[in-house]
Amino acid sequence: VADGTLRSEVTKTVGSAQEALWILEHVESHARSGEDVADEARALASRRAAGEPLQYLLGSWPFRTLELSVTPSALIPRPETEQVVEAALRRWRSTRPGDGHAIVVDLGTGTGAIGLSLLAELADETEITVWLTDRSPDALELARVNAGRLGAEGIEIRQGEWFAALDGPLAGSVHLMISNPPYVAERDRAGLDPVLSHEPDEALFSADSADGVPGFSDVETLIRGALPWLAPGGVLAIEMAENQVEAARGLATSSGFVNVETIIDLAGKPRGVVGEAP
Ligand code: SAM
Ligand code: GLN
Repeated sequence: VADGTLRSEVTKTVGSAQEALWILEHVESHARSGEDVADEARALASRRAAGEPLQYLLGSWPFRTLELSVTPSALIPRPETEQVVEAALRRWRSTRPGDGHAIVVDLGTGTGAIGLSLLAELADETEITVWLTDRSPDALELARVNAGRLGAEGIEIRQGEWFAALDGPLAGSVHLMISNPPYVAERDRAGLDPVLSHEPDEALFSADSADGVPGFSDVETLIRGALPWLAPGGVLAIEMAENQVEAARGLATSSGFVNVETIIDLAGKPRGVVGEAP
């Protein structure tokens, strides 16, 4: 990749040999002449040094089996979310609620990462329809681009607030409902990694719940409202912050979910809850 001089220059600018390599590979695979490569690599390196997330600069990023387009219209898909998908898949496979055609809903889909992964990974096992929703039209435009690569068969895209985005006739028929909602508390804003300031606010921040759990209001809305949408045995899986898991487990159980369990991330931290409709 590139000549050694350019490589060490870019490494120096971004402070990481690995990131420099990714930037150079990206630029080379898109460039037309040697001249372009150096200029473009230097431009991306200084944007990176100024704090833009690498993923937005490269324009695509892997998530599970997929390579997704990523833009500042939506959250950059995270490794902990891959684990939430893993837990949801495991639970769905262990019970296979309904038989035949699986109906999957990804609420607050952003890039489409969760729902499109489920579609791609379950396609060999079942007929499947995946609903991708978001309140943000810009996020959905990006989800549509990512969906297009998978062929769009079996994908429904809807704009709106949480359950309001779903068509009424879906009630009582969803086999797997999954979400990575916003769950960062406003009071934590000042201490966040500055890289997060490049992602949409509405993807990250949520109000505190009425009884004072920080950043919990969207998770609470989802747990409280999910049951009527699920088929018997339907699975609900939600990502959240570590300090929200206990409240979420209690709420899921008191809302009527059964077999409620904690989802653990790769660092061994509790980062989500999975349960089933009775
Ligand atoms: N699912 C994607 C992922 O895991 O990478 C994006 C998750 S991001 C943390 C949360 C998403 O929820 C954002 O795309 C945001 O626009 C959407 N969102 C926030 N509030 C919402 C609401 N009230 N109704 C529907 N979607 C909402
Ligand atoms: N995982 C993100 C973070 O704290 C938050 C994403 C979210 O709010 N769902 O870096």
